[in-house]
Amino acid sequence: MQCPSCSEATLAAFVSFGSYFTRCTSCGFEGPATSWRALSSKLQGRLRAVVVDDSYEHTQVIAEGEASEIAEAISDIAYQGKLVRLLSPNADA
Ligand SMILES: [Zn+2]
Repeated sequence: MQCPSCSEATLAAFVSFGSYFTRCTSCGFEGPATSWRALSSKLQGRLRAVVVDDSYEHTQVIAEGEASEIAEAISDIAYQGKLVRLLSPNADA
């Protein structure tokens, strides 16, 4: 996704605690947050969820599968204070 602030295609989707938001991994621009629980019930298709550190390096793969099936696992990890990045299953980064 393209960042509206710096125009780099580095806008990524994250879940932290109960919130879903987008953040640019280049400039740090953050989109408005929304409820992960509300959003996850509407998501369709497959997702890969990974834990990332402060540098957005992947540290742990949480789950991969249908969004509705892994939403709970994502919530559990996000509520532990970890930053969870959502990816399409075939994405490299
Ligand atoms: Zn940016």
